[in-house]
Parts: sequence; structure tokens; C-alpha cells
Amino acid sequence: MNNALFSFQKPVNEPKYSYLKNTKERLSIEKELQRQLSEVVEIPLIIGGKEIRTGQTVGVYCPHDHGHLLANCQLAGENELKMAVEESLKAKNDWMNLSWVDRGSILMKTAELLSTKYRNLINASTMLGQSKNMFQSEIDAACEGIDFLRFNPYFASQIYSQQAVCDKNVINRMEYRPLEGFVFTVSPFNFTAIALNLNISAILMGNTTVWKPATTSLLSNYYLMKVMMEAGLPPGVINFVPCKSQLLKESVVMHPDLAGIHFTGSTTTFNSLWSNVSERLGSYRSYPKIVGETGGKDFVFAHSSANPWELAVALIQGAFEYQGQKCSAASRAYIPKSLWSETKGHLVSMINDIKMGDVTDFSNFVNAVIDQKAYKTIMAYIEQAKNSNEAQILTGGKGDDSKGWFIEPTLIETDNPNFVTMKEEIFGPVLSVYPYDDNKYEETLDLCDKTSPYALTGSIFSYDKYAMTTAFNKLRFAAGNFYINDKPTGAMVGQQPFGGARASGTNDKSGSYLNLLRWVNPRTIKETLVPVTDYRYPYMMDY
Ligand code: NAD
Repeated sequence: MNNALFSFQKPVNEPKYSYLKNTKERLSIEKELQRQLSEVVEIPLIIGGKEIRTGQTVGVYCPHDHGHLLANCQLAGENELKMAVEESLKAKNDWMNLSWVDRGSILMKTAELLSTKYRNLINASTMLGQSKNMFQSEIDAACEGIDFLRFNPYFASQIYSQQAVCDKNVINRMEYRPLEGFVFTVSPFNFTAIALNLNISAILMGNTTVWKPATTSLLSNYYLMKVMMEAGLPPGVINFVPCKSQLLKESVVMHPDLAGIHFTGSTTTFNSLWSNVSERLGSYRSYPKIVGETGGKDFVFAHSSANPWELAVALIQGAFEYQGQKCSAASRAYIPKSLWSETKGHLVSMINDIKMGDVTDFSNFVNAVIDQKAYKTIMAYIEQAKNSNEAQILTGGKGDDSKGWFIEPTLIETDNPNFVTMKEEIFGPVLSVYPYDDNKYEETLDLCDKTSPYALTGSIFSYDKYAMTTAFNKLRFAAGNFYINDKPTGAMVGQQPFGGARASGTNDKSGSYLNLLRWVNPRTIKETLVPVTDYRYPYMMDY
């Protein structure tokens, strides 16, 4: 009899490997990179636990070597999408009735497999398929992915243990049911760990999913699916359906059994999914829960008490790690004129020192942007800066798409705080700086708050506690993740739950219990021990 009151213990974050030259981990990842480069993987759809081939395929290429084919991936058509919804609904009953501890144990086993046997597999496929250097892949595909897998069962333990108050004649219980229907998960290319978390957070709470991965991260995402299956994921609990996005509306988004959408990606895509749902409102079995983490225009704001060197290092890492393709990447900075000259010197010399190139060369800090579309969009912003008399390119600004989608880390100075590169999400290695008058600190904080529609991450650099508090208060709603004397990237599961509001999403904080709460549909149960036997109120007995 399964009567244990069990909870998963609080885990610690997965330690990073160093990958220093000649270490065991360095030698083995180099071997795995070469192995993956020497093969072309055939990626099927996985629906109801079965591999499905449609004959419609898309090629998966290295962004830093766009002639190198890594994989061919099958694409789902309308029929396969319908099948995926059916299989997710079919799998639902057994999955939600399985003990949540057993669901959690599949996540814990996946974490263990990714931490050991498949660490190289997931890192190398993320490096090659998404053009991440070793460090960026290690903190994403390995460490963050493993953290989500281990922390979520711990958060679920906390949720399930929350129970209502009872009275002497009444026993009250809370049953944390899953949502009724299926959850549609849509993942972005830029974090392997996010693709994993969008699915596991929902399934842990007893839901089943239909998963549409990004076409530019298919290799690592396919391996995630395979590792979860090896860890014991039953058929139909997650259905892996790469496809053309336009097919999703009718067969998935407007399906009456859609119970939720768990999305990460651009604000535009999220808005279109939300309006698809509104179009069909009234025809769903329940109101679908819509959770989306979207774009950002993340800021670094320096006060005159900041240290220019510390500020410059944070800007370099915050803006240019993973080519600025993090939703949290620093892309606009406000620096007092008194610090600007020294900070600029540090920035330009560090940027000129950055090496850019292939992920297999471990000396490269910057690799390629994800695809041709991104390359063109980012270069168009750089061209606007080149052609404007309100902005000046201090260093960088060139692209080279002959072998891979390479764009130099680019630093722009502008005297217009509303210049286009200070406002719009670029999602590339471009940092714009607005040097402000030292005596306009508060005014400039207001500008920072109002310039962009997003509110994802932001940093304040200050050693003056009063100035820091002023920024903290004035920028209260400008960022869901606020950093003090640190870069605005690098949130860790459990430590800095992640998400922003305004145009940056619904702020449902992945990496915390708050996100898991969106995937439950609680039922309150009241049991009366001795029922009432007279309908009249006691004072009526006097008459
Ligand atoms: P994207 O919006 O282009 O794509 C995201 C996913 O949506 C992909 O799987 C894509 O194929 C799919 N998609 C596109 N159109 C669709 C449609 N009409 N219907 C259904 N699905 C559709 O975003 P991206 O380029 O993959 O990722 C970059 C964006 O993601 C940036 O804006 C970034 O800020 C954001 N992002 C946000 C967070 C966060 O936590 N806030 C994290 C990572 C990325």
C-alpha cells in the first residue's frame, strides 16, 4: 500500500564543469563534438511514444557553418497534430492517476542521466545546433536543465503539502488536479533548458503536452525527448511535433480540449496565440491558462558611484554572451557622463579583444547568431545606427555570412534616449549606450522606465545606497528580475525565479513554485462528520 507522506528534498544547483584544457570533461566533450559532426541524425516525430515519419522534412544546420547538415527532421502535418492531441488526451488518465512521486521520479532520473551519461550529448548538440560556446551550453543545457528537473519536484512537494484548515466536525482537503484537457507547449531556440521546463513543469502536475519545438533547436530538443523516454516517460505524456507554425491554429490552439499554453518566445508570437484563443472563447471546455515569457529590452543603469571596470565587465557579459540572444541580455545602458569616458575605454578594449568563430574552438567567446533571418534583422538595426546622425558605432558593426551567421559585438553611443536601438528588442550582439548628465539621475531613471514596452530584466550599478534605493523604487515595474551591481542575465533556478511583466509576459516565474501553480486546477473537498439534522436555525426553536 502506498501510504507514505513523501516530499522531495531541497536540491542544490548542479555544479558547472570547468572544461579546462586536458581535463577529462574537456577531452570527452571534444570527442562528442567530433562524433556529432560526423553524422546526420534522422529526427522523427514522437507521438504516443511512437516514431512517426511524414516524408516532409527540414534540415538542421550549424549556425556557425551553415553548410554543415547535422540532422533532417520530420515535420508534422494537420493529421499528425490531430494525432498528437488525441494521444495526449488518451495518456492523461493513467498519467494523472500515477502517484506524483512517481512522476517526480521520472524527472529526477532524467536529471541524473543528463548530469552523467548524456551530459556530453546534450551539450554538444546545443553547441552545434544553436551555436553556443562550451560555457554557455554547460550553464543552459546541462546545469539549468538539471536544476529545473530537480527543483520542480521539490516545489511540487511544497504545493501538495498546502492544505486547508479543518474544523472538529469537518475535514477539508485540497486535491491539486491537473488541468482538464492538454497543455500546448511552444519553445524558443535560445535555451535548451527552457524547452525542457515548458514541458516538465506541466507534466509533473499531472498534465500531458503537445510540444512544438523551435525549428532552430531541433537536435538538442530531440535528444531531450529521447532522454526523458529512457528515464521512463510513458507514451503520449509529451508529444514531440516539429511543424510549420501556421498549421497549429486550427488543429491545436483552437481545439476545445486546449487547457493551457506554456510559451516562451517573442511577444509577437505570444500575442498571436492569445488572440487565436480569444477568437474561440466560449468553445473551450475550460478557460485555457495562458502562460508566456516573451521579449525584453533589458537595461543596465549606472550611478556616478559605480565602479567603471565592474560596470564594463557586466556590460560585456550581459550584452554579448550567446551573441546577445538571451531574453535577459543587456541591450541598453545609461551611464553618467562622469564615468562614460573611462567605461567606454574599457568596453572598446574588451570588445576588440573578443574572439568570434566556431564553437569547437574553445577560445571563441562569441559564436554565430541563430539563422539568416536573425542575421538580416540584426544587421538592419546596425545599418540604421550607421546611417543616423543621432548614433555612432564605437566598435564592431560588421557582419560576415559567408560561412556562418557572424556579427561582430557592436557598441553604439547615442545622444537620443529614444533612438530605435534603445527601444526595440534586437536579440543580437548590439549594445546601445546613452550617456546622461550626472545631475539628471532621477529624470533619466524615469526615461529608462518609459522608453520600452518591455519589463524583463534590469540592473543598477551603484555604491551609494540612497541612489540605489531611488533606482529600486523608480524602476519597480521596469523589470521582473532586478539586479544590483551585477549583469542582468544568468538567473538560476531556485535562486532567481525568472520572468517579467508588461510586454515581457505573464511573469509566472519559471524556477519557482509559482509556475507550477499555473498547471493545477484545485478541487476543495469538505467532509462533514456529523451532518445537521434540522433545517431551522437554533433561535427559531423558541417559537
Ligand atoms: P519566436 O516567437 O520566433 O518563436 C518561439 C516559438 O514559437 C518557436 O517554436 C516558433 O516556431 C513558434 N511560433 C512562431 N510563430 C508561431 C505561431 N504563429 N503559432 C505558434 N507557434 C509559433 O521566438 P524565438 O526566436 O524562438 O526566441 C526569441 C524570443 O524569445 C525573443 O523575443 C526572446 O526575448 C524570447 N525569450 C523570452 C524568454 C523569457 O523568459 N522571457 C526566454 C527566452 C526567449
